[in-house]
Amino acid sequence: MERILLASPTMHGEENNYIKEAFDRNWIAPLGFNCDGFEDEMTEYLGGNMHAFATVSGTSAIHLAVKLAGVRPGDYVLCSDLTFSATVNPVSYEGGIQVFIDSEKETWNMSPEALEEGFSKYPDAKVVVLAHLYGTPAKLDEITEICRKHDAILIEDAAEALGAEYKGIKCGLFGNYGILSFNGNKIITTSGGGMLLSRTKEDRDKALFWSTQARENAPWYQHTELGYNYRMSNVVAGIGRGQLKHIEEHKQLKKEIYQRYKEGFKDLPVQMNPYAEDSMPNFWLSVLTVNEEYMCRQERTDNCTTWVHEPGKSCPDEIESILSENNIESRPVWKPMHMQSYYADRDFIGSGFSEEIFKRGLCLPSDIKMTKEDQDRVIGIVKKCFGGN
Ligand SMILES: *Cc1c(COP(=O)(O)O)cnc(C)c1O
Repeated sequence: MERILLASPTMHGEENNYIKEAFDRNWIAPLGFNCDGFEDEMTEYLGGNMHAFATVSGTSAIHLAVKLAGVRPGDYVLCSDLTFSATVNPVSYEGGIQVFIDSEKETWNMSPEALEEGFSKYPDAKVVVLAHLYGTPAKLDEITEICRKHDAILIEDAAEALGAEYKGIKCGLFGNYGILSFNGNKIITTSGGGMLLSRTKEDRDKALFWSTQARENAPWYQHTELGYNYRMSNVVAGIGRGQLKHIEEHKQLKKEIYQRYKEGFKDLPVQMNPYAEDSMPNFWLSVLTVNEEYMCRQERTDNCTTWVHEPGKSCPDEIESILSENNIESRPVWKPMHMQSYYADRDFIGSGFSEEIFKRGLCLPSDIKMTKEDQDRVIGIVKKCFGGN
């Protein structure tokens, strides 16, 4: 049987038309009409008053946001703890020092209480980096209010949350800067790419300048600032234009997958990743957590795991292993940043809820090409892990 994947690219054919046009016009370069078109169409889709800038990756877009936010060596930056390392690494590119902020229970995203505590402990912090995990919007009212109160710049990492809405407004539009990713496993993809969303044209112009090697306006290669090669290619942007036409369809399929898991697991001691009533996730990944009392013994070192099967109980690593034996891909939840040895010297603020999600959580196959029958198999295997038949 074919492997069931966590999330793989779903192409529709229209992508080819844009790529073909790039070839026909021999416009195989960074910059170009597909980049412009992709940025304009994304702006229109998001419906916000912002300036979009397409980049080679989401990570480079975050780096540009961190630079635009003015992070300097030695500055403290308050960051989501439970996320992919790409959310927080660019802070280090600029010499900033991350302070990791715990998750809350309602959405698994940055806890407003812990953020407030972070500002009490680091009153000089001027930048917050917030990720919307697995496509679920964070508590944006609370977080934007705290940032406003402390006069801090908010960078919204919406890499996983393109198309997700909070009170009817799309993720990426709440912060001073928003970023998107079009990596291969995201809800739409360009094979690799990202986008920076900023509020002013000046910020976008500055991002473009840095992203094209910081060339000054002069007859030769004149540099007064450090530059980067971060601009998206015109070929790749064509894939994005074709994909963007299908975002709503992708969201709908992702939502149906989430709902089928929820229904399928209703008699099991597991929960699906939660979201708040006033938000509409894009359901990028469906994630389960095993209820505390139903966790069998699972021990993880930095590089490996062991568990002991107990009747009626299970754990993420056991479920992952049995799914894998059945040629089904699943993945642990992001390992919190404060638990990473690279960031061992960084401060962490919270009670350890992010660690709890890591211990008891598993990302399930959420590929929109998965059939109902495929998904029933996944559900059946998870049931068996808890001793069902
Ligand atoms: C994928 C991802 C990124 C990085 O995006 P790339 O395009 O892969 O560089 C950043 N943050 C989060 C939360 C992500 O999931």
